[in-house]
Amino acid sequence: VLLAEGAVENILVVDLDVHQGDGTADILKDEPRAFTFSMHGERNYPARKIASDVDIALPDGTGDAAYLDRLGAILPELCARRRWDIVFYNAGVDVHAEDRLGRLTLTDNGLRSREELVISHFRKADVPLCGVIGGGYSSDVPALAARHAILFEVAAAYA
Ligand SMILES: [Zn+2]
Repeated sequence: VLLAEGAVENILVVDLDVHQGDGTADILKDEPRAFTFSMHGERNYPARKIASDVDIALPDGTGDAAYLDRLGAILPELCARRRWDIVFYNAGVDVHAEDRLGRLTLTDNGLRSREELVISHFRKADVPLCGVIGGGYSSDVPALAARHAILFEVAAAYA
């Protein structure tokens, strides 16, 4: 809708759900004004991935430090590609160590650092960011809700 209305010209999708962003990549593959980036678990669903504009596949047990290193390195590259009018950020929490499906073993602190890294990066670049919760397959619902809340807690600090 934003593209059709001419409200934006360049859209970046940052998909950090543990599952590769195959649906987004498929929907937007013929839309040159939208650029898709997915960083995900190499061995997580889907087995047959649909290529994003940039994909980073991470091995099982990646953990906070390596995960944040990769993310911190790619964000400036993504920012340098174009002048983005808006970023859509899928903040999937199924990267967490206690997630039933995820394999990347992030901690709560790792998740918080991830949200700070993403949000601060684009806010400093003066690019509007729309964050959405995603992924999260824990039967401990209060713990899962607390993980989803991190996105909003961090975003509120930049409001
Ligand atoms: Zn997922």
